[in-house]
Amino acid sequence: MLNILLNPKQKKYQELIDETNKFHQTISKYSNNELKLQTHKLKKLLLKGQSLDEILPEAFSTAKEAIRRALGLELFNVQILGGIILHYGKIAEMKTGEGKTLVGILPSYLNALNSNGVHVITVNDYLAKRDAELVNKVYKYLNISVGLIQQSMNTNERKQQYNCHITYITNNELGFDYLRDNMAIQKTDIVQRQFNFAIIDEVDSILIDEARTPLIISGLYEDTTKKYEISRVISDKLNKYIDYEIDEKTRNITLTDSGIIKCENLLNVKNLYDINNPWIQYILNALKAKELFFKDVHYIVKNEEIIIVDEFTGRIMEERRWSDGLHQAIEAKENKKIQPENQTLASITYQNLFLLYQKLSGMTGTAKTEETELDKIYKLEVEEIPTNKTCRRQDLPDLVYKYEYYKWKAVSNECHDMHEIGRPILIGTTNVEKSEFLAKILDELELPYNILNAKPENITREAEIITQAGRKSAITISTNMAGRGTDIILGGNPDAMTKIILSNYIKNILKLPFNNQFIQKISNEIKIILKTLDIHLIKSQITSNNINQYIEEAISLVSVKDDLLYKNIQGVYLKILNEYRLIFAKEKKDVLKLGGLHVIGTERHESRRIDNQLKGRAGRQGDPGSSRFFLSLEDNLLRIFGGDKISKLMQVLNIDDTTPIESTILTRSLNSAQKKIESYFYDIRKQLFEYDEVINYQRQAIYAERKRILESHFTRDCIIEYAQSTIDDMLSTYDQTSSNKTIIVGRISKLLNITEDLNIDRIISTINKKQVQSFLYEQIRITYDLRESYLEQLRPGLIRQLEKYYLLQQIDQAWQKHLEKMMFLRESIGWRSYGQQDPLIEYKNEGFHLFVNMVTYIRQTVVYLIMRSRLIINLPKE
Ligand code: ADP
Ligand code: MG
Repeated sequence: MLNILLNPKQKKYQELIDETNKFHQTISKYSNNELKLQTHKLKKLLLKGQSLDEILPEAFSTAKEAIRRALGLELFNVQILGGIILHYGKIAEMKTGEGKTLVGILPSYLNALNSNGVHVITVNDYLAKRDAELVNKVYKYLNISVGLIQQSMNTNERKQQYNCHITYITNNELGFDYLRDNMAIQKTDIVQRQFNFAIIDEVDSILIDEARTPLIISGLYEDTTKKYEISRVISDKLNKYIDYEIDEKTRNITLTDSGIIKCENLLNVKNLYDINNPWIQYILNALKAKELFFKDVHYIVKNEEIIIVDEFTGRIMEERRWSDGLHQAIEAKENKKIQPENQTLASITYQNLFLLYQKLSGMTGTAKTEETELDKIYKLEVEEIPTNKTCRRQDLPDLVYKYEYYKWKAVSNECHDMHEIGRPILIGTTNVEKSEFLAKILDELELPYNILNAKPENITREAEIITQAGRKSAITISTNMAGRGTDIILGGNPDAMTKIILSNYIKNILKLPFNNQFIQKISNEIKIILKTLDIHLIKSQITSNNINQYIEEAISLVSVKDDLLYKNIQGVYLKILNEYRLIFAKEKKDVLKLGGLHVIGTERHESRRIDNQLKGRAGRQGDPGSSRFFLSLEDNLLRIFGGDKISKLMQVLNIDDTTPIESTILTRSLNSAQKKIESYFYDIRKQLFEYDEVINYQRQAIYAERKRILESHFTRDCIIEYAQSTIDDMLSTYDQTSSNKTIIVGRISKLLNITEDLNIDRIISTINKKQVQSFLYEQIRITYDLRESYLEQLRPGLIRQLEKYYLLQQIDQAWQKHLEKMMFLRESIGWRSYGQQDPLIEYKNEGFHLFVNMVTYIRQTVVYLIMRSRLIINLPKE
């Protein structure tokens, strides 16, 4: 049996791997039917009281066999190890191309056996779909249902998908569904089940990069468009250094005294910081938009809208907006329509969203550098898993140029040389602008290339470009990490290529929009094969929307449908696939001989992890490969964080402009600069987390209460409870003086709408506080009974509807107002100075008060409204 190199900590896992493989020997002899019965058998073992841990080897081996039958792939031992780590709720660090998609199947299957749901979370819709379709082939052998959630789906579809054993979904959809569920007015609108077990793919990207901005659902708010426009005009009149200062490290702007006075004069206001007519944040946002946020770097303009480009991934983030007015300020700067300011209706950070899971796990090629954060915030331990074959990639030392100009020259020379000899290259750039800059240079050199960045015209071809990036002489320019999740196969990916050609050819025949580039390249032999499809296609039901799924189904070897077009497509697919297999196999040999994929970095990123991700594109599964970073002293990282050391060093070395420097001192200060930034961003995320934690407890409480109401069939108890708490609240200031007594009891009876002609004064003068309480409790019951029978006469069942309606409405409104107050509180705490006091503690204290007030307010209003519900009898029917 294969033994893999294990560190001592991982040794305990060896036993499990061995056991899995032993079981597998037996199971591999099972018939398809017997294999399917395994699921039933394992479920029964669980019912009999065995634990998931105990049945792990048998479940894993069952899944392993299903993978073998469905895909023809034999799982490696390192993949089984990865599966074990995931099952134990940790992060498995496995390099790119090690087959993490399949690794996820093992723990998903095991944990799906108790039917509480398993979520596999990916970074985008494309990957969710791709992976769900792939694993579905496997799970067909196991009687396990796989759900897939896509952005376009409606409530019913979502619910169905969440009810599957295993659901593939993006982090975005998961978060928004969670928030939407907690705003549901009816139980039937809720789509999610409990948060049981999740596997996050590309976990660092989600838990670290994306965790910098919270998810927000918002509604329209007051119109402050004018303020943004005016602030933009003012920002143009202010001068850098004189009126304001920029701290590039923290990306913060502060007004100088002269700046403040200038603004106040221009605006004709007395105090820029006046809380009732606040201008300061508008001005600062306008300045930020002017100085710190650039088109095609931080955002792009698409269909007249400003769309954020994620700094780390280079992806565009549709639907997301910068908060606190920054987005509007940028809209003002770009002269685009300013979207009205939004009120936050619900929000959550990814940190707190993922902590909702009973068990959480993740996989990625790069997590080790962020180990502390993953452990501190998510309690996730990172375990490095050895590669299946030893990595042969050569990471060449950085070359640092004095000026950026010479750096780009060197990069383009390197592209030229590699292209000449036929080696495929992948060039990582830090933003859209730079990727296009390099593209222009390559145009001048007449070098062909593919470009992958956040521009919409490029993004649709993302996977397509990456699958062909390993072909001979291919040059691929990419913003960092674009194409994450799709691995680069040397020589090209025949399977993906065939599908792309098939789909474009069919689209062409059916007159759907298609990509001509692929049709042009087809050889005559392949064209002849494709032509046999023509007559069958005419009657087909294929549309732009279903074409890819149609092809997937048609070519699937377990395809059940007895359909002529299916069979034809399958036949054509296999023929073309064979052709490309031959072509690409030959190309692969050539590329291997040349040294495999060469990765070029053009700037050190703010985090080492992102650089590692780029490097990891080369040398997958023991392939040869290399990487090299070209840097310049003008790069942001060195300029801002490098410190004096480097410029001093430059003077000492006194080298000419075109010669790169390779020096250990330089590399060391680069590394320390990177670490500085990493910890800076970590602090920001930690702060976001700590502040959100305060709201998180409150959110949990409110959501739990909401859920209780939504699921309750008898909300009367809840109303009575609210009324009693309200009575208690009011009685808490009750003392023996008779005037105080009368006032309070009077107030209470008014609130509760106790209209009975009671001689309260007389009653309460004879009894003590406890008795007053029971008296009022009783009164509330009586009054409510009356109200209920009165309403029941008018329309049976109405009272229960009203109760639910008021309860949910009041909770939601109060919660939204509360969120707003909390936001102001946070901002104002930032402006105030507390001397030695920790602002977080202040925030916690004041936040708690606000919360208590809100809860009291909700109870009172609900009771007040319901007690007067006769006035609202004309509510529209359901
Ligand atoms: P990762 O997510 O780790 O980068 P993927 O899951 O995308 O890797 O898999 C990369 C490629 O490796 C895929 O083409 C997949 O089919 C292939 N692969 C995965 N596991 C195996 C295996 N055990 N044997 C052969 N090929 C495998
Ligand atoms: Mg992957």
